[in-house]
Amino acid sequence: MRKFIYVLSLLVVVSFVLVACGPQNSGQVDKGQSNQSHRETSRDKDKKAVVRHTVVIDPGHQEAPMNELEPIGPGASQSKPMLSSGTAGVVTGVTEYQLNLDVSLKLRDELEARGYRVVMIREDNHCPISNKGRAEIANQYTDGIFLRIHANGDSNSSTSGMLTMCPASDNPYTPDIVRDSRRLSQLILVQMLSSTGAADKGLIETNNMSGINWCRIPVSIIEMGFMSNPHEDRLMQTQEYQAKIVEGIANGVDKYFEI
Ligand SMILES: [Zn+2]
Repeated sequence: MRKFIYVLSLLVVVSFVLVACGPQNSGQVDKGQSNQSHRETSRDKDKKAVVRHTVVIDPGHQEAPMNELEPIGPGASQSKPMLSSGTAGVVTGVTEYQLNLDVSLKLRDELEARGYRVVMIREDNHCPISNKGRAEIANQYTDGIFLRIHANGDSNSSTSGMLTMCPASDNPYTPDIVRDSRRLSQLILVQMLSSTGAADKGLIETNNMSGINWCRIPVSIIEMGFMSNPHEDRLMQTQEYQAKIVEGIANGVDKYFEI
């Protein structure tokens, strides 16, 4: 009997505590949540220039090439290896896939800070996805753009500078994105040249890049510089220069979405 009274008392006390504190606590939680969501809404309004566009970033290559062939575009008779090995720094010895990743991760952070939704094709050096496969991932983001980050190599070690690539006006595989890809590539090139002071190697039109030809959203290949040039190879390994490249690309993306 004493045990029963003890349990009953305990239940009464517990019930009292629940009644006394329950609603008050949940009220505070509700109030806190609504304040928080209100603050987030206000912050979103402050970022009105950015409408949360999606930027898909492909850090070019990976640690191993993929030598099997794939068509260079939908319906193409010509084929190319699924993924080439890329180049490497003539002085530093750093691989292109590593440099591409390093800059791409910084670009991701910068674009996210500017309010964009960023999708990374890879965030480490193991990504056995072909150029076609990477474009097909990007195509899932129909409102987005696709940036393919690369560095260049040339047999002449004095060659230096930046270029961007877009589909040519007569590209048979992807006519719907020619105009926007050209505008995107042009804006990024101009902004990168401005932020880095690099030599202008121009806007290159191409019809034989699988990662462009399989793409259905605006796309640009960004060649940051020549790893075959000793000066540019060293420069591209500095934090300062990488930050300038990133700033230029992000400014180009901002300008693309401004219109
Ligand atoms: Zn490359």
